Amino acid sequence: MAEKRKVTRKKIKATDVMKQFMADYYYELDHAAKTGEKKVAWCSSVGPAEILRAMDFLIYFPETHSAMLGATRMAMEFIPHANALGYTPEICSYLTADIGAFTRGVTPLSRAYEGIESVPKPDVLVFNTNQCRDIQDWFSWYSREFEAPIVGIHTHRGVMDVTESHISSIAKQMEDIIEPLEEISGVRFDLNELKRVVALSRECSDLWKKVLDTAAAIPSPLTFFDGTILMGPAVVGRGTQRAVDFYKVLLSELEDRIENGIGAVEDERFRIYWEGMPIWGRLRAHSELFTELKACVLASTYCNSWIFSAFDAEDPFGSMAKAYTELFIVRSDEAKEKYITKMIDFFKVDGVIFHDARTCPNNSNCRYGMPQRLSADTGVPGLIINGDLNDLRCLSDEQTNTNIEAFIEQLEEQKISANEYTEKTTLEE
Ligand code: SF4
Repeated sequence: MAEKRKVTRKKIKATDVMKQFMADYYYELDHAAKTGEKKVAWCSSVGPAEILRAMDFLIYFPETHSAMLGATRMAMEFIPHANALGYTPEICSYLTADIGAFTRGVTPLSRAYEGIESVPKPDVLVFNTNQCRDIQDWFSWYSREFEAPIVGIHTHRGVMDVTESHISSIAKQMEDIIEPLEEISGVRFDLNELKRVVALSRECSDLWKKVLDTAAAIPSPLTFFDGTILMGPAVVGRGTQRAVDFYKVLLSELEDRIENGIGAVEDERFRIYWEGMPIWGRLRAHSELFTELKACVLASTYCNSWIFSAFDAEDPFGSMAKAYTELFIVRSDEAKEKYITKMIDFFKVDGVIFHDARTCPNNSNCRYGMPQRLSADTGVPGLIINGDLNDLRCLSDEQTNTNIEAFIEQLEEQKISANEYTEKTTLEE
């Protein structure tokens, strides 16, 4: 059995800067919704946020809100209320938790930020089906509830190579939503402003990538569990100078750690890649479990999903269409396997955890033999854990912990055998 003792991962100081960022973000939205001084747009997390920002909307992201419901474990109380409305327990538990909480007049924002009583009322809802169809159903429910207009981008799915025809069809849809948004916002679309915002989004994305790439260092200065929190500004603040400034501060702290050989996990022995959604209600427990096992979960498909390297201010519509279609979730299994293989190599990964999230088949890539194929191709073992992003009824803690401990033990045995082999061959030489 691999050694296990009580330790916690090292705190990243920039987290406090991020907390202030998120507080200011939600208070600004709340003020706008209460006073009507600015229009509020709801947007899916990998939706065309740049267009909305360029048209002076404040942007609210329901997925981030629902992740808060999950992380605070409030989701469990509210999912049944959405089930009662006909949204079954089998569909996205972001959707069910969020709609359920709304019907009960509850939001975790009230607990986190004094004075905020509800989510900000939308003037428009804008979705992109690049992630899934659930997002459209989710936003449509709120559109009916608030009697607010809804517009959307309908994206291709299962894409192997992103081609010109994919890009031009999505870019055209993005251009088509400008006119209705002008009517709602009362702001005339300005191409130069969009270029400015896209340039800032690109800068934010590049910095976020650099932050995540620091995990390639040995020991890694960063864990996936830090990433799920620190990604906040990349999701809700991309396109702003403030998000760019935050990631400069964070990057500098992580580079300092690398220079001084400081790992996020003390005595890092195993390097793990996390494939799939986080289990929001178990972030702390999982972080502690892996840390105790000297295993650093250091990289993930999930956190990488807010890297948009295609953004180009000189071609805002074409590059946004490309960036939002190149996403991992949009791609074919073959393209996904190539991507994960690259990540295993880049981050020098010993093992991969595949989270089979019950209510999100879109982010569960272990149902059609991918872990087995990847393991055969790379020689890196994988472990599937059953769970969910928000619905903790889909998770057995005991079984998950036992499986993770056994997996780390397997990695330990592999390391011992590999070392013995190296020693033997060195002696023979
Ligand atoms: S991708 Fe999954 S978690 Fe995200 S909105 Fe769609 S179903 Fe829900």
